[in-house]
Amino acid sequence: MDFRPTDEQQILRRTVREFAEAEIRPYMMAWDESQHFPMDLLPKLAGLGLTGIQFGEEFGGAGMSSVEYCICIEEIARVCPAIALSVAAHNGLCASHIAQFGDARQKAQFLPRLVRGEVLGAWGLTEAGAGSDAAGMRTTAVRQGECWVINGAKTFITHGAIGGVMVVIAVTDRAKGHRGISAFVVEHGMPGMRAGKKENKLGMRASDTSEVVFEDCRVPPSQLLGEEGQGFINTLQVLDSGRIGIAALSVGLAQGAYEAALRYAKERRQFGQPIASFQAIQWKLADNAVRIEAARLLTYRAADMKDRGRRTTLESSMAKLFASEIAVKAADDCVQIHGGYGFVKDYPAEKYFRDVKLLTIGEGTSEIQRLVIARQLLSE
Ligand SMILES: Cc1cc2nc3c(=O)[nH]c(=O)nc-3n(C[C@H](O)[C@H](O)[C@H](O)COP(=O)(O)OP(=O)(O)OC[C@H]3O[C@@H](n4cnc5c(N)ncnc54)[C@H](O)[C@@H]3O)c2cc1C
Repeated sequence: MDFRPTDEQQILRRTVREFAEAEIRPYMMAWDESQHFPMDLLPKLAGLGLTGIQFGEEFGGAGMSSVEYCICIEEIARVCPAIALSVAAHNGLCASHIAQFGDARQKAQFLPRLVRGEVLGAWGLTEAGAGSDAAGMRTTAVRQGECWVINGAKTFITHGAIGGVMVVIAVTDRAKGHRGISAFVVEHGMPGMRAGKKENKLGMRASDTSEVVFEDCRVPPSQLLGEEGQGFINTLQVLDSGRIGIAALSVGLAQGAYEAALRYAKERRQFGQPIASFQAIQWKLADNAVRIEAARLLTYRAADMKDRGRRTTLESSMAKLFASEIAVKAADDCVQIHGGYGFVKDYPAEKYFRDVKLLTIGEGTSEIQRLVIARQLLSE
């Protein structure tokens, strides 16, 4: 067991940090205000390999490990969690599903464009009536002659309006329950597929979240992703690694909030001294530093296990649950340490506070993570 990052990992962290400070921090409040994902950032993300972090060089990807993926997501989230969410959904959901379960032709068709950042990836599981109970989805794909015909609507889809390639999960045989669910890869602009309502969100506002509607959308059989009937099982595997990404996002957000609080505590003077000299503030800083380090270790452990080819259902959920909940606490304490200045947009505290809440909800709520963890423990 070696907790030290390699030289390459340290360089990677520094490079992504410098990129996020230069290319994201100056503009993130404007993107947040306008609820605008900056498409012109895509080629810059691609230039650093951040649109194809874990994909093989044969697809133009950066071929990084899962631990290195965490470092990238962490460093973007430290500055702007909304951009990190977009990078995580693109890499860890859409492209990852295609890379894990696509056939050679599908990978060759879709991955290089995703990896080069020519298109953003989206991944559609959730529906208005099927969130935590995703297998209760209503969207169907019915085989008609040479095509699958998709009907239904997916809700809360990251890049639902602006994504170029989307993985969509649909019921292909209701009688078979979760073994009657399949995945398809579709492209925006296909007849019968359109973006619906764009959500007006509390946080993560620079990341597009929209409904996607399918009305008699005809998809060729070559776009069935993975085996028919395996879509939901494959989805759970995608989420096992996706949740490591959300854990890393949580660690990065918590780190950013903690650093902002620490900086402010040293600058702000009350009663003739920096507020950092008060024990009440010091304990908040100390508790957050400990919690962030613990969350980072849980996250890297899950990532390292994934890199070793081991199943991480339990470890991914533990990391996601713990990291997202300590991130909520870090963002809350960051606002508290800033006092009234934590409540206004001149300081980063209020944005961390708004962005963080998604992390205990997306890719499985905290309640669902506890359910997954308990199920794993009880089945041992
Ligand atoms: C910004 C954003 C981006 C998103 N991006 C995507 C995306 O790209 N693709 C995608 O497919 N989805 C996406 N989602 C959807 C997200 O994954 C769901 O919102 C989430 O899974 C919760 O589903 P729900 O909102 O329907 O809540 P519900 O499932 O209705 O849950 C409501 C409450 O009930 C609790 N609950 C539900 N069932 C149980 C249970 N069995 N035991 C205990 N408590 C329970 C939940 O924990 C929660 O507190 C996104 C959501 C947001 C807000």
